[in-house]
Amino acid sequence: MGVDLTPTIAISNQTPKNDQLGASTQSNQEQEKKTVQSWTIEDSEKLYRIGEWGEPYFSINAAGHVTVSPKGDRGGSLDLLELVEALRQRNLELPLLIRFSDILADRLERLNASFAKAIARYKYPGTYQGVFPVKCNQHRHLVEDLVRFGQPYQFGLEAGSKPELVIALATLQTPNSLLICNGYKDREYIDTALLATRLGQKPVIVLEQVEEVQLVIDAATHLGIEPVLGVRAKLSTKGTGHWGPSTGDRAKFGLTISEILACVEQLQDAGMLQSLQLLHFHVGSQISAISVIKDAIREASQIYVELASLGANMQYLDVGGGLAVDYDGSKTNFHASKNYNIQNYANDIVAEVKEACEARQLPVPVLVSESGRALASHQSLLIFDVLNTTDVLSETPVTVEEKEHLIVRNLWETYCNLNIENYQEAYHDAIQFNEEAKTLFNLSYLSITQRAKAEQLYWSCCQKILEITRTQDYVPDDLEDLEKTMASIYYINLSVFQSVPDSWAIGQLFPIMPIHRLKEEPTRRGILVDLTCDSDGKIDQFIDLRDVKSVLELHPLREAKERVESTVTKKGKIASSHASSKEPYYLGLFLGGAYQEIMGNLHNLFGKTNTVHIKLTPRGYNIEQVVKGDTVTEVLGYVQYDAKDLVESIRRLTEQALQEKRITIEESQLLLRNYEQSLSSYTYLKA
Ligand SMILES: *Cc1c(COP(=O)(O)O)cnc(C)c1O
Repeated sequence: MGVDLTPTIAISNQTPKNDQLGASTQSNQEQEKKTVQSWTIEDSEKLYRIGEWGEPYFSINAAGHVTVSPKGDRGGSLDLLELVEALRQRNLELPLLIRFSDILADRLERLNASFAKAIARYKYPGTYQGVFPVKCNQHRHLVEDLVRFGQPYQFGLEAGSKPELVIALATLQTPNSLLICNGYKDREYIDTALLATRLGQKPVIVLEQVEEVQLVIDAATHLGIEPVLGVRAKLSTKGTGHWGPSTGDRAKFGLTISEILACVEQLQDAGMLQSLQLLHFHVGSQISAISVIKDAIREASQIYVELASLGANMQYLDVGGGLAVDYDGSKTNFHASKNYNIQNYANDIVAEVKEACEARQLPVPVLVSESGRALASHQSLLIFDVLNTTDVLSETPVTVEEKEHLIVRNLWETYCNLNIENYQEAYHDAIQFNEEAKTLFNLSYLSITQRAKAEQLYWSCCQKILEITRTQDYVPDDLEDLEKTMASIYYINLSVFQSVPDSWAIGQLFPIMPIHRLKEEPTRRGILVDLTCDSDGKIDQFIDLRDVKSVLELHPLREAKERVESTVTKKGKIASSHASSKEPYYLGLFLGGAYQEIMGNLHNLFGKTNTVHIKLTPRGYNIEQVVKGDTVTEVLGYVQYDAKDLVESIRRLTEQALQEKRITIEESQLLLRNYEQSLSSYTYLKA
């Protein structure tokens, strides 16, 4: 569709072709009207697959806005557009990260309920006691919430470094919950973990390196504290996808089977074998295939029972993380998906471990998992606005006259004669003519206006061809990239490096969609380009049922008139500050609550975004926390600039310019005022 993309081509002499073009444009317009009217929220649901990846938290309401049901199917929902506008009225500018603590609670409940169900189903004579890996999202309010929500399940924490241990020690206050200590350890880390026992914590020191065994023996002996120890096994089970190589013999972490045996011997010699109580493994994050999980748990169960028969006092089997999130909702073993649900995951773990222990007549272990992504992804939602859009095809009509250069007339001819029978051939003609136009220009045979015309006609041909290919089941290879080439560019008020680093670093996919206008057909296809001066600062891969899409269906931006007027009648003050020429167009990036925040960086000095914590109440919602994003002064502080010094040097420069009469007093004051205001403002653009 997209009549707005089709140039109105007028030709001076009336030819039958022109009539044809006019007629077809008219019928296009009629068709467009019809599709706009018949576009429904069901069409949007299908297009953006929100039911598949968003269930049960995200859906679309009758107004065509995304709604959030933070408690899943247990009632209460919020209109996301209304929420965003209400937050903006509280001076919380975009980009804005919204966290829903109810979603976090719901995820935690689901995980525990799934293990409880599996334990009942397989009559597993043991329990499940999970931990949250702090590395997945260390933000204080989130970790505190998680610990609180986890109390009924004796849910614990996992630390992978000294700073994370420091967080976990102070935050975890649930009696009997586990504090799993992973990662590289020095004596200080080990001493701190051991001493936590005196505070009533249950730290488990997981040995990941051969050197750590002696360190732990020395520290425990010195402090006179009997530790609870675990070993991390390097499994031979191969993971898949990005984190596949984190297992196997060359993996970065863990002990090989012979190293585990040496460790057992070393502990036995020190009289500490009864301390070895836990077996840990971690196959990698986002394991999309259930078969990989099954293989890993089978291998680990065997190691577990063997360790028990060697005399270790085995109590816990810790299956690590890896429980995946279905980002594209395809329920497949594609890297952005998973071919199982939490219940299947729990069932397989419970059943395999029970079988292995029964076969050896051993008591079953307490099952521990370290799911990070599966708990934290859904609770946060990133909202950002579109600043502007551009297209290769300009909206100004091209007029072609008889006196035009032959190359221009050739392109015009190609455009007019283009149809379903000849579009592939016409494509190659158009390319060739366009190339010739460039050559002619370089040799000064073609003026700049003629070259511009040729270019626009070339893009018009491409647009027409693209519209034909969209109606075809089969797209010829040479035309496959046309969708990408013709994509509109949507400039977004965001830094990919700060807010979605995994999209840039490892090509991770997240569901992205408009949060409003969903009763309207999204007639544009675009890619998203961010604020940084870096050509990698873009998103041009989007979720799809099959594989990925290179463009996202979006709406054209609308003029803001109506909106400003309506705001004026309600609240005059706000309208003046929002008086931009475009109506806001809000996009949401979903399921980004794991890893993105902490891995984000300050590329181009775009800082942390504003963050709010929302909790559902019987009357609506409550804003529990507001964490303001970085100001310019703060990001400059990270690179050792002092705001006062900067202002002072600008003041001195303006003073000098004043003396030399290069600046007026008014200009100098305006400059200083702007400079100071910039320092205290948000690093993103004001909508
Ligand atoms: C990263 C990590 C996790 C969390 O993995 P998810 O895939 O996010 O569940 C758990 N355990 C260890 C040891 C890890 O390194």
